[in-house]
Amino acid sequence: MQIPTPLQSPSLLEQQHPSGSGAGHLLSTLKTYKYAENRAPVLEVMDIQKRFDQFQALNHINLDVQAGEFVSFLGPSGCGKTTLLRIIAGLEQPDYGKVIKKGVDITRQQAEKRRCGIVFQNYALFPNLTVKENIAFGLSKNQWSSAERDERVHLLLDLIELPDIAGKYPNQLSGGQQQRVALARAIAPKPDVLLLDEPLSALDAQVRLNVRQKIRSIQQQFDLPTIMVTHDQEEALSISDRVVVMNHGVIEQIDSPHNIYYKPQTSFVARFIGSMNFLDAVCQQPHQLDILGSMSLNFPQQNLQVGQHYTLGFRPESVMIVEEAAADEQFLYMPVQVKSSEFLGAKRRLFCEIELENMPSADVPTLQIEIENAQSAQIQTQMLIRVAHPLIHIFDEQGRALC
Ligand code: ATP
Repeated sequence: MQIPTPLQSPSLLEQQHPSGSGAGHLLSTLKTYKYAENRAPVLEVMDIQKRFDQFQALNHINLDVQAGEFVSFLGPSGCGKTTLLRIIAGLEQPDYGKVIKKGVDITRQQAEKRRCGIVFQNYALFPNLTVKENIAFGLSKNQWSSAERDERVHLLLDLIELPDIAGKYPNQLSGGQQQRVALARAIAPKPDVLLLDEPLSALDAQVRLNVRQKIRSIQQQFDLPTIMVTHDQEEALSISDRVVVMNHGVIEQIDSPHNIYYKPQTSFVARFIGSMNFLDAVCQQPHQLDILGSMSLNFPQQNLQVGQHYTLGFRPESVMIVEEAAADEQFLYMPVQVKSSEFLGAKRRLFCEIELENMPSADVPTLQIEIENAQSAQIQTQMLIRVAHPLIHIFDEQGRALC
């Protein structure tokens, strides 16, 4: 869902992966990890609740955004991301809870007084105004002299790397250029917070990448706290300091991109971000799980409840193909039959069935395995795979992660 376009109404304007892989991801995580200092948040969302008739769109939402932080709201369609952004922007009123900006309660403040810059999915530029006029629109003549307005516009045009388009009209620009102008317009009045509602979803893949890097670099340059709504996990993980994963109006996890991927706190997050294989398990004796009724594995560190059902999860890239099982409790071994495979460039994804005696074929889970293409020679129709203990996640019956 897209935010209605109030801008068309001028009055409203204003730790490394245990297996050692994923070095690129690690680098971006290290670069963005900066929560050692306990700075006061710029924005606090406290216990927000919102209903539309009988439908609970948001339920007990709590989060904060620190100075200079880039936070993404990520989740499936209808989970409440846009509603939450609209409440922060002042375009929607919560039924309960508070929005605090720089220590001031702005829950009931009008949108145009909140000092929030907003960028919409569909650019929402004024078609009858030039680029320069669009960018300068929020620069009040009482606060900005004509020379200051000109200077600000040209600074921003340089920043978005479109210095020569001041006199053009929106319909003379590409989608990517329009979105960059929309970004310049949103940050021109020096807002306290930048709010982005799916700003990249109308752009094609290459332009998208380009604009997303531009957004991140400008946001960092101005040290501008930013919230972006997206349903694109790659987008959220690649440029955010923290990601808020939402589902059915509640927050499942708020964390760094690294932890969202490698330490999902719920089975929903594990399932929603990337791919994960799941196996049913039951605890028959302390610290031990019986998996699919035919394998067992010890988890000496885990406080498992006898008689309880659990779900084991592991990522496709956590699987290794091996010749034989070692007498080693550090691994879960499974014989599998390869059913199909997909070429993914540097990698290959295999779809396999676990070979289990006494299990009706309809109940046999299909596993996804990801290997380097260079290892393709290891693939056989029937093979043995293993997953190292530390790469296995355990979820309880409520979907909460034990590890
Ligand atoms: P999407 O990614 O599809 O935009 P979203 O996560 O942003 O979804 P919201 O737009 O916040 O979801 O909507 C959350 C839920 O609230 C949806 O079920 C939506 O239909 C409902 N909703 C949103 N606005 C209204 C409204 N004004 N009146 C009634 N229901 C609404």
